[in-house]
Amino acid sequence: MQTVDVVVIGAGPAGTVAASYLQKQGYQVTILEKEKFPRFQIGESLLPCCMEHLSESGLLEAVEKQNFQKKTGAAFMLGEKRCEFFFSEQFTKGWTWTWQVKRADFDNTLAEATRAKGVDVNFECEVLHVACSEDKQVLEYRDVNGDSHTIQCRFIIDSSGYGRVLPRLFDLSKPSAFTPRGAIFSHLEDIERTEEASNNIFVHSFDDNKSWIWAIPFSDGSTSVGIVSDKEKVVELAENEGQKYKDFIRNFEDLNGRFKDSELKFEPRHILGYSVGVKTMYGEGFVLSGNSTEFLDPIFSSGVTFATASGLLSAKMTDRHLRGEKVDWKNEYENVVQKGIDVFRSYVSGWYSGDFQTIVFARYIDQDIKNQICSVLAGYVWDTSNPFVKKHDTILPTLAKVIKMKEQQEI
Ligand code: FAD
Repeated sequence: MQTVDVVVIGAGPAGTVAASYLQKQGYQVTILEKEKFPRFQIGESLLPCCMEHLSESGLLEAVEKQNFQKKTGAAFMLGEKRCEFFFSEQFTKGWTWTWQVKRADFDNTLAEATRAKGVDVNFECEVLHVACSEDKQVLEYRDVNGDSHTIQCRFIIDSSGYGRVLPRLFDLSKPSAFTPRGAIFSHLEDIERTEEASNNIFVHSFDDNKSWIWAIPFSDGSTSVGIVSDKEKVVELAENEGQKYKDFIRNFEDLNGRFKDSELKFEPRHILGYSVGVKTMYGEGFVLSGNSTEFLDPIFSSGVTFATASGLLSAKMTDRHLRGEKVDWKNEYENVVQKGIDVFRSYVSGWYSGDFQTIVFARYIDQDIKNQICSVLAGYVWDTSNPFVKKHDTILPTLAKVIKMKEQQEI
């Protein structure tokens, strides 16, 4: 039986960041990945904070060579109203830009760069069974030919994303408190794109804050366009090969005809009920990272940044554990990851309650407040010197209430 130090399940952003970091520390690391890369994945708009994680794991340079679309901000729209955030103005001192990427290319770049560092990256190898104990972990997987294999290691990092390998096998999943929603999306030709539309993600809110559209531009001139709404609406939009999605995108007034004559690069795909939680993020012989932990909602494009943040932190904890240090997994890992998730949870709740829109589309928004919110949107959700991080659970509803009262008095 093959024996290595660490097996990472999944070669997405969480898995490759974790594996690359551990390889740098001198461990023998194997990745088992179910799919053949490049493969499609949703989650195309990154946040500046993830650049820190790519840099620390030694993967930034490989991504820099890919000519991905630069992203310098985010623009929110509600009918005629609009509010633009520029990452260069954010409160936290950090990265002021990032990329928007086709995940097939981005993830493949990360996987190949990870392999080039010496990690054994195995595609088309699906992990089926796992047995964990204090110092020996055994994984059974099936390769592309249908042959079964067993591999042994000292520690497992589960970065299997939506596959949720260990949460499924060890019954660790927990339902999300959010309303079950879905998304339908495709990539479209974007002939009429302005320079401003190239550097930003555009988010259009509609349907009384219940639904929204994303437009995420890529460097090849195409744009990812998705509609997020409640499950029933998404199922309806997906009927007849997404005919209603196509009609909607082409005729939605707030898009001003941007995609009126655009060809779709592929038939619309949809995904339902993606929000999910987890009972614990670690156990004897393993840790979860990325979407294997908790996924909230796509509205603030936080998924990949959480994947890289938790991938990196899980690797650092694993390194210490393998060196024989006593790691306090609860306080040093789970609570840290959870803290960031909880900040975004407040903003996701604020989006669907309309408080976020009340603030950003107010007649007047204080620039300092805007810069502090901007840092949350850039992914710096662990910077507790930012009041919009520190008081995340109360600050949006309180501020929205004050703005509503003030605007009513002005009428
Ligand atoms: P993944 O990227 O899912 O990678 C996990 C890998 O594990 C996969 O390659 C998979 O094949 C592999 N795997 C699964 N099961 C097994 C198995 N049994 N054995 C071996 N390998 C296995 N995030 C953003 O940052 N920006 C966005 O704009 C954004 N938009 C989104 C829109 C929607 C509609 C949704 C639902 C999500 C969006 N996200 C976005 C979130 C993003 O998709 C995820 O958070 C991100 O991909 C998580 O990365 P990961 O590395 O944890 O997992």
